[in-house]
Amino acid sequence: MNLLLIGSGGREHALAMTLSKSPGLTHLYVAPGNTGTAQCATNIALNVADHAAVIDFCSTHDIGLVVIGPEAPLVSGLVDDLDKAGIPAFGPSKKAAQLEGSKGFTKDLCRAYHIPTADYERFTSAEPAKAYIRAKGAPIVVKADGLAAGKGVIVAMSLDEALAAVDLIFGGAFGAAGAEVVVEDFLEGEEASFFALCDGTRALAFASAQDHKRAFDGDKGPNTGGMGAYSPAPIMTDAMSARVMDEIITPTLRGMAERGMPFKGVLFAGLMIGTQGPKLIEFNVRFGDPETQVMLPRLEDDLLELFLSCAKGHLTNSHVHLSPETALTVVYAAQGYPDAPISGSEIKNCAEAERMEGVTLYHAGTRREGERLIAQGGRVLNITARGRTVAEAQKRAYAAVDVIDWPQGFCRRDIGWRAIAKETS
Ligand code: AMP
Repeated sequence: MNLLLIGSGGREHALAMTLSKSPGLTHLYVAPGNTGTAQCATNIALNVADHAAVIDFCSTHDIGLVVIGPEAPLVSGLVDDLDKAGIPAFGPSKKAAQLEGSKGFTKDLCRAYHIPTADYERFTSAEPAKAYIRAKGAPIVVKADGLAAGKGVIVAMSLDEALAAVDLIFGGAFGAAGAEVVVEDFLEGEEASFFALCDGTRALAFASAQDHKRAFDGDKGPNTGGMGAYSPAPIMTDAMSARVMDEIITPTLRGMAERGMPFKGVLFAGLMIGTQGPKLIEFNVRFGDPETQVMLPRLEDDLLELFLSCAKGHLTNSHVHLSPETALTVVYAAQGYPDAPISGSEIKNCAEAERMEGVTLYHAGTRREGERLIAQGGRVLNITARGRTVAEAQKRAYAAVDVIDWPQGFCRRDIGWRAIAKETS
């Protein structure tokens, strides 16, 4: 079967590398792809915002399945248009993608289906939101309803900060994403990411991970797209995963089906695990980046087969087979990231790093100039390693980082600290 994968990040390199090993694959195309996907697939220049062009490509290249990496094509209804053209796709419809696209929509679903989450209210103007915040007190969390590139969430430790957040969002800082505000209780606990594959009515637990959002060691500095991750998340024991499936994923799937918008694809639950158990912070409707780069190296099943079962509504697997090993990834970013990354510097010795035991490199923002590898963008490389323990995976990943010669890059030196502290305690 021929496959079309959409996206261009480290996540898509990991997806492409894994899909390229599937026995059922004839040819893998990636639009637009990156330096890494070019090594295991054919990159194509296709404007994915032009759905007619995507459908045309699928018809002329006999594409049996489209896999969509990022959220933007999902939110813009690419799956709906592919569906109308009779082309199977792994990913949710535009309506089902509201689980990521609207925080208010998701919170209302949680309330209707008793899904554990922070208590909340929705607001369309500032004064009632502020009155609610004053009545609740700080700490409290203020969120723009729509997609705001991960920046529309303000965890306010003081009342003044929360009130200012309301003005910021309604003042237009996040454009249309801030037309509505959700104010919710501050949750305490440990965060973890949980992924389930869904076929519209059935869900299958896939894997767990934990990431590091802040730019610098010790979880300091500005928020980023993610500076590293590891899988599994030690807090996500089998018992905790079963609770998340029963209390969060299954009722969500039921709710979506009952509302006439069945969810197909991967449901990514951002969780807070506290003393009362797991609570949902947010849903994403696609794989995480960099979480995918640590989950897929552990996968022992055929990913194409799993994606196809989801797309066609026949997900009958009872569980996913994963290596018990840990995979850990370190994001190597260009200096200046996240505010103003410096592009154009040369990265050397990647081939040497890739030859090291248990190490895989995923490209996120690189380009080739002849034989030279050049940084292009903020998050540039994911240096991933497997190990029997988190500590071993971390040691291998940083040994590979140290072989790479890139003075204009930086990375955190403490990826996995929380899990390693648990291993050694
Ligand atoms: P979100 O974009 O909704 O995942 O929020 C981004 C980050 O804000 C999360 O990863 C949490 O660290 C934090 N956060 C969001 N909601 C809450 C909450 N209710 N309580 C505590 N922290 C939160």
